[in-house]
Amino acid sequence: MSTNLASQLSLNHGGRILLAVMDGVGDIPIPEFGGLTPLEKAETPNLDKLALGGALGQQFPVGRGITPGSGPGHLALFGYDPVKYLVGRGALAALGIGFQLQHGDLAARINFCSLGDGEVILDRRAGRISTELCTELVEALKHITIPGVEVFVEPVKEHRACVIFRGAGLSESIHDTDPGLVGEKPLPVTATAPGAERAVEVVRQFIGKASLILKDKTPANGLLLRGFALHEALPTLTDRFKLKPAAVALYPMYRGVASLAGMAQYQSDPADLTGEIQAAKNALKDGKDFVFLHHKYTDSSGEDGDHKRKVAEIEKFDKAVPGLLECGFDVICITGDHSTPCPMKLHSWHPVPVLIHGGPQRTGWSRRFTEREAASGALGTFQGYELMSLLLAAAGRLAKFGA
Ligand code: ZN
Repeated sequence: MSTNLASQLSLNHGGRILLAVMDGVGDIPIPEFGGLTPLEKAETPNLDKLALGGALGQQFPVGRGITPGSGPGHLALFGYDPVKYLVGRGALAALGIGFQLQHGDLAARINFCSLGDGEVILDRRAGRISTELCTELVEALKHITIPGVEVFVEPVKEHRACVIFRGAGLSESIHDTDPGLVGEKPLPVTATAPGAERAVEVVRQFIGKASLILKDKTPANGLLLRGFALHEALPTLTDRFKLKPAAVALYPMYRGVASLAGMAQYQSDPADLTGEIQAAKNALKDGKDFVFLHHKYTDSSGEDGDHKRKVAEIEKFDKAVPGLLECGFDVICITGDHSTPCPMKLHSWHPVPVLIHGGPQRTGWSRRFTEREAASGALGTFQGYELMSLLLAAAGRLAKFGA
């Protein structure tokens, strides 16, 4: 189903919705747990209660067999078809460090590298320099000025940084300058399509000036640019679904994706689930009617392959459920942005369990919030971006289609 229909039918009144995301929560059977998944192994009395009175299903964030990044995974949960609304890698890098991108900004990832005689690349990552050294180099690059554009350079981690150019007439149709190999020179800045002349000129000037600044540094005496992405502002959740949305997330990347969707940011103090619950309450007090709350550590434990820690993180989230219920939301949804199975230590294409509690739900047989129960739940299997219309409907925020 197209999300445009939900957009056309959406009302500017109705219930208040909580979208709580346990990042990477979906998993696969763990041999050490006798074939149970972390969700099945975890003791989750509070989630179990929600499952009993709610409806379960599972969603594919992007599509069947497609492994999503967290950016597209979240955009889908916010009701955007992530294949239609693309956010480039450079833009995601900028969002990941909390940089507020504006419409028309051109962002790219920087890798500091080591160059030898004749500008030949010796190490594409400059020996993975420390983040401190990266920050120092970035400070030096911040002095670069280019007529007609604003230049922002920001450190990311180790040898990685990003650059954002702000000005009229920029384009993302630029080849990476990283040849992907050692023993070669960085590639010249060239366009991949007509109309990118201005952007090519700006990036050439930047690289020229940066090279002069870096040439005597060691071990990072050069830089490679890749993932050029022109940021296009998305229609917000207010534009699309008449919501007053808020985000409660501890990590900049998720705050960034939420701000793309037009969510107001609420700070958590302390920076844990207790603080996040308080922030959600504050958002409701301010009249917000949609709150996105993010729990990161289910994903990090999955990526570390630490299934016991993932169980502990799920149980920690379960203990926060009563606090979330007290906030006064009319509809509560618990899901993830993708699966991160511990045995794979990576994001995966597996569907993600969804639980919706509140509103007139058709409950199924589900007794627990687990992958297996979700697979046979009343909501069935659907596309991630369809979740938003289910939430709006449960909150009484969608009008009837047709007479
Ligand atoms: Zn994620």
